[in-house]
This record gives sequence, C-alpha cells and structure tokens, in this order.
Amino acid sequence: PGTLYVVATPIGNLDDITARALKVLREVSLIAAEDTRHSARLLQHFGIETPLAACHEHNERDHGGRFLSRLLSGENVALISDAGTPLISDPGFHLVRSAQAAGVRVVPVPGACALIAALSAAGLPSDRFSFEGFLPAKASARRGRLEGVREESRTLIFYEAPHRLLESLEDMRGVFGGERQAVLARELTKTFETLKGASLAELCAWVAADANQQRGECVVLVGGWQPPEGEDSVSAEAVRVLELLLAEMP
Ligand code: SAM
Repeated sequence: PGTLYVVATPIGNLDDITARALKVLREVSLIAAEDTRHSARLLQHFGIETPLAACHEHNERDHGGRFLSRLLSGENVALISDAGTPLISDPGFHLVRSAQAAGVRVVPVPGACALIAALSAAGLPSDRFSFEGFLPAKASARRGRLEGVREESRTLIFYEAPHRLLESLEDMRGVFGGERQAVLARELTKTFETLKGASLAELCAWVAADANQQRGECVVLVGGWQPPEGEDSVSAEAVRVLELLLAEMP
C-alpha cells in the first residue's frame, strides 16, 4: 500500500510551512483537505498542482473509504486541514485509524500547531499541560467542563471562537477564581499577534474593554491549580516543634 502523510500547514503566516511539507504535498497523488477551496489557495500560493479532495467532519467516515482504496492501490495521500496540524481539533482521526487498521503506514509531517505555539511563548509552566480543545458552546455544559478541571495542576489550554471568548473567560473566572493566571494568545503568526498574560479578572476586564481583542483566532491558557498555601507542605506548627526538638539534640 501507499503511505498516508499527515501534514501540518501554517496557522497564519505562510512562511511557516516546512520544506518537507511542500515536498510531500508536491509528490503525493492526492491531498485530502478539510475545505478544498481554502486549501486550493494555499497550494496555488506555493505552485502545487496536486489534486484535492474533501475530507471533512461530515464525510470523513463514509468518504474515508475513497482515500483508503487509493492508498491500498499503492498511491500516497496527504491529509491536511484548514490550518495547523490535522486531528488537533480538526478532522482526520477516522481516516488515520482506518488507514492503520488496513495496514497503511501513517507518517506525520510536523509543523505549526496553535496550542504548541501559544504554550511556547505564554510564560506559563510548560512541563505538563492539558489540552482541552474547544469548550462546549452551551453555558451550562461549558461550566460543567470547567468544574471538571478546576483542581487540575497542569497548565490548561483551550481553543476558543472569538465571539465566545468573553463568555468563556468570564466562566473561567467564575470557576477558577479571578486570581488565577491566564494568557490570551491571539492571531498567532499574523499581523495582529497578541500575547497577554494577566489574572483572569484582569483579562476579562481587558477583553471586555477592547472589542479588537474579541476578533480573530485565539488560544486561552490557564495556569494550573495550586494547593492553598501551607495545605500541602509541612505546617508552621510542625516546623516549630521540629525546631524545638532539634535544639534539644546533642
Ligand atoms: N489544527 C489546528 C492547530 O493545529 O492548531 C487547530 C484547528 S481549530 C479548528 C481552530 C482553532 O485553533 C481556533 O479557533 C483557535 O482557537 C486556534 N488557532 C488557529 N490558528 C490560530 C492562530 N493563528 N492564533 C491563535 N489561535 C489559533
């Protein structure tokens, strides 16, 4: 069989495409794309003439078979999404899984990914993090989801649509508390790129006061939960007793 390449494309700045991505996109027989019109512009920009076929959320399960039969007949196929890395809050999971199940080799061609770009410049702990994807659109479900990670100690990363940003930030402030540190990473790699770190209370006020912050694409990062001072460490009383005992030791 052929190979399925899972190819990352830019999240804004076209210079972020990799040399390997261009080579693969040029050499495969077919490119499976989330939105063929959108991707046609990208390919045109780089002078790539490989045929495109739609592979989006609604047809992925049924039409996946079409890509699979091309792969099984020995052709190489590339999977791309509208921006960044496929499968990261984007379609492709079913295709990747069925390709693997059919014995097709699946090869990642890494590149831009909004959550990683945001985390790399946010200034929040990055050794452990939890990617939460998009929050539910309905307020009650959204709050429920946030409650579920209230005491998560890893840095939390959310994708958000601009028209829901303020609502979500306000729910985060309600659930995590206004003191919790957060970072809004907006329009990464683009002209109006903004990284703003502040407490959730400050961030809510800042976004509410500036409609420009409610435009474009954004990632919200929230510092992990920290146990209240003293709770997880040795209590002050224990330290006092230890000091008294130490003073008595020969
Ligand atoms: N697959 C993509 C990736 O690798 O990041 C993500 C696709 S998801 C449908 C789109 C979401 O990613 C946006 O709503 C936003 O939260 C985030 N995003 C994409 N591009 C971005 C950018 N340039 N700046 C900030 N966030 C971005």
